[in-house]
Amino acid sequence: MPSLTKSAKAKSKLLVKQLKKVAKAVKSVKNGHKNGIKTSFAAPKTGAKAGKRVYFFGGGKSEGSKEMKNLLGGKGANLAEMANIGLPVPPGFTITTEVCTEFYALGKKLPKSLDADMRANISRMEKLVGAKLGDAANPLLVSVRSGARASMPGMMDTILNLGLNDKTAAGLAAKSGNERFAFDSYRRFIAMYGDVVLGMKPEKKEDHDPFDVLLDRKKRQRGVKVDSELPADALKELVSEFKAEIKARVGVDFPEDPYAQLEGAIKAVFQSWQNDRANLYRRLNNIPAEWGTAVNVQAMVFGNKGNDSATGVCFTRDPASGENVFYGEFLVNAQGEDVVAGIRTPEKIEALGKIMPKAYKELLDIRKKLEKHYKDMQDIEFTIEGGKLYMLQCRSGKRTGFASVRIAVEMVDEKLIPKEEAIRRVEPEALNQLLRPVFLPSAKKAAIEEGRLLAKGLPAGPGAATGKVVFFADEAEALAAKGETNLILCRHETSPEDIRGMNASLGFMTAFGGMTSHAALVARQMGKVCIVGCDALSFDYHARTMTVETAKGTVVVKEGDWISIDGFAGEVINGRIETAPSEVIRVLIEKNLDPKEAPVFQTYAKLMSWADAARKLRVRANAVQPDQAEASVAFGAEGIGLCRTEHMFFGEDKIGPMREMIVAENEADRRAALAKLLPLQRADFAGLFRAMKGRPVTVRTLDPPLHEFLPHDEAGVRALATATGRTVEQVHARIEELKESNPMLGHRGCRLGITYPEITEMQARAIFEAAVEVSAESPGAQAVIPEIMIPLVGTKKELDLQAAVVRKAAADVFAEKGKKLPYLIGTMIEVPRAALTAGEIVDSAEFFSFGTNDLTQTTFGLSRDDVPRVLASYLEHEIYTVDPFVSVDRAGVGSLMKMAVAAGRAKKPKLKLGICGEHGGDPASVEFCHEIGLDYVSCSPYRLPIARLAAAQAALKS
Ligand code: PEP
Ligand code: MG
Repeated sequence: MPSLTKSAKAKSKLLVKQLKKVAKAVKSVKNGHKNGIKTSFAAPKTGAKAGKRVYFFGGGKSEGSKEMKNLLGGKGANLAEMANIGLPVPPGFTITTEVCTEFYALGKKLPKSLDADMRANISRMEKLVGAKLGDAANPLLVSVRSGARASMPGMMDTILNLGLNDKTAAGLAAKSGNERFAFDSYRRFIAMYGDVVLGMKPEKKEDHDPFDVLLDRKKRQRGVKVDSELPADALKELVSEFKAEIKARVGVDFPEDPYAQLEGAIKAVFQSWQNDRANLYRRLNNIPAEWGTAVNVQAMVFGNKGNDSATGVCFTRDPASGENVFYGEFLVNAQGEDVVAGIRTPEKIEALGKIMPKAYKELLDIRKKLEKHYKDMQDIEFTIEGGKLYMLQCRSGKRTGFASVRIAVEMVDEKLIPKEEAIRRVEPEALNQLLRPVFLPSAKKAAIEEGRLLAKGLPAGPGAATGKVVFFADEAEALAAKGETNLILCRHETSPEDIRGMNASLGFMTAFGGMTSHAALVARQMGKVCIVGCDALSFDYHARTMTVETAKGTVVVKEGDWISIDGFAGEVINGRIETAPSEVIRVLIEKNLDPKEAPVFQTYAKLMSWADAARKLRVRANAVQPDQAEASVAFGAEGIGLCRTEHMFFGEDKIGPMREMIVAENEADRRAALAKLLPLQRADFAGLFRAMKGRPVTVRTLDPPLHEFLPHDEAGVRALATATGRTVEQVHARIEELKESNPMLGHRGCRLGITYPEITEMQARAIFEAAVEVSAESPGAQAVIPEIMIPLVGTKKELDLQAAVVRKAAADVFAEKGKKLPYLIGTMIEVPRAALTAGEIVDSAEFFSFGTNDLTQTTFGLSRDDVPRVLASYLEHEIYTVDPFVSVDRAGVGSLMKMAVAAGRAKKPKLKLGICGEHGGDPASVEFCHEIGLDYVSCSPYRLPIARLAAAQAALKS
């Protein structure tokens, strides 16, 4: 058994417990005793036949299809589909994901009847292949691979060449006439079996795989550089040495019986569903533990049979840029894992055309056939054995944000998919990448002229990142936890164990591996900047350095040094380089790039225009300053949904009078300070109204605890004392007096305006004076319609009192100016009482805006500032499936929202409803807002494109 670390053991126990619970629930639902536990997967998975655990594919037909992903996993469903559409797929069978659930429910045992199913299906394979498992003269060999519903590249385990033992290896050598090939396959199988089934994988980062150590020793002894140069007798020796190593370390003999090998391999693949990295991957990607993995057992074909054999991985389009070109790489005389593991740097796929033209042409035809059939970019794995092509996998290819947008838009132009499908295809979060910085061209040019270019590799993840070098993934993770945000993880190669550190880094680079290596796949998925195959760099992990020969001599880069990586060009540059905004930002915000010169912007704009036509929800921005408002409009904002006025008081000229106002001990002093603030506030609002050009602007009255504005240093205290004619001690005493035990639940929100109505009065006056002023500037245009919003209301009376102050200010200003303007008064719904009594509050409100930051905080009773202390454990224990401050908690907070919507609209069917908490820019929350019938979502300017796309997807879903 793989030895587990303490936390992995704890996690595995937890998982077993959960799965047992789930299995019990399934059973009880099946028996008709519904016990209230939601078991979405208890219903038969699409296409499932009751009691059927194994699905066969091969010989031109399959028992499964691509629709059966939930049951057969992505790999199994697509193998079945490829066989169905006549592609050359070696025969095999898929053990369903339901068996994985059973396996855990049975305490990590396979169900009894599986053995018979397995044997029956092996026998079908034997007939099609014309070979027999365990037959010494003519052995069938199989691969055993995981395959979950959602793809989890490299996270789980695979075993190849199963069925080899001393007898069948000799038989394979005789049959193939290639002893080298037979023993190369055998030693690979023993190593994989040792690592995966017998738990011999290294646990510490400094340790090497024991089989690699023996292999390296053998290469040294024989004076060869690469594995493929080892002769048959050396490989035979390795087979014995590997077996001895297993016996020495694990104390068991390597199993010679192929059925025992198969059972061990299937169990190990099921167990890998809950290894540490798979658990983390699922958490990062919101994949529920109860989905389970399927296991695929398939007849082996060999890419390592000689120089007319090869193995490769391709994408039907470029997964980094999205360009419509066939994209991939291959290795001659190698097995599939060699390409993905990045052990040898592979060749570009075009080169296959010269070496094996027939197989290459067939591959090009398959590329077309697959895109036409699946209508999406596919990631394919193939093997050529003795010149004959076999397909081993196809799945929808992971891609960068850039590629995602380009492929979706171009497939519409090619009439492969409709616009609606293009909208559905792009993950809203992927748009973030299009807004990311690139290196400042002049700064990068200067760095290269200074001779700081260290090496060139393959551009696997676009973007620009500059940061400090870190060599170990766990250290990157630890540094990030301490707040270090600029890290570049540099490794010879990465493996699935490194995933946490990769997540914690800005970007990463590897010396080995191609565009389909682990690092490249993960980068595309996480949206990280990445360069792979930078083989000029050599690493010394013990000395914590990487070294490279450049035109200027040897350069040694140490841990903690700064480097810069350009994921568009594949360049690694020594030192820091200043970054510059992306194409989209340059066109939209800086307006210094012609859209015609900006192809990335053009595809972005096309997709956005389709999304805007499809969505029902309006989008607004949370913005305070005119430049933010302008950026918001450029990103598609149709109004401002939240202007947090307290953010206006932190400016140099405002903080002084603001502090005077706070320390004032009577109304007269307070009014004197407010009079100083009035013109400053008016100018702020006028700027905002001008920038929004008649679009609605929701201004919220002062919200936070007052003491947040008070000076934190002695110089500030002295300045305040001078300004207010008090002693330093008096100011200190007043600051002390204003301190609260629990400021988040204290003197903030409308409570400020109720205790000091003159604050609201000043703010309302500033708003109306600015609105009149700006409306007069462009007489024919849409007049400003201010929406004044009162925060933290929990009772109707609070809103009534504040609304009266606002109305009086409006009447005063309109009378003074001789001009009337329409305006609205509404409230935030951000404490549970407001949601519960929304039916009363609505009588005084012309709109509601859900403040889901506070509503989450107060509903959970969990401080929004202190949540990081509990979050990690809560996510780990799956108490929360996602951070409720990121994605609206539908069951709790969401119920309160629904209640308020229903009560509000029952009295005022046209009541305007929005959301302005951070959730307004979160795709899952946007979908919820659409479902409950809000009019708009409001979010920070840079999340507006995400909100627009998410809103369109929600509309298409319903
Ligand atoms: C909210 O609570 O959701 C909100 C928008 O207000 P703030 O974040 O300013 O408290
Ligand atoms: Mg709030």
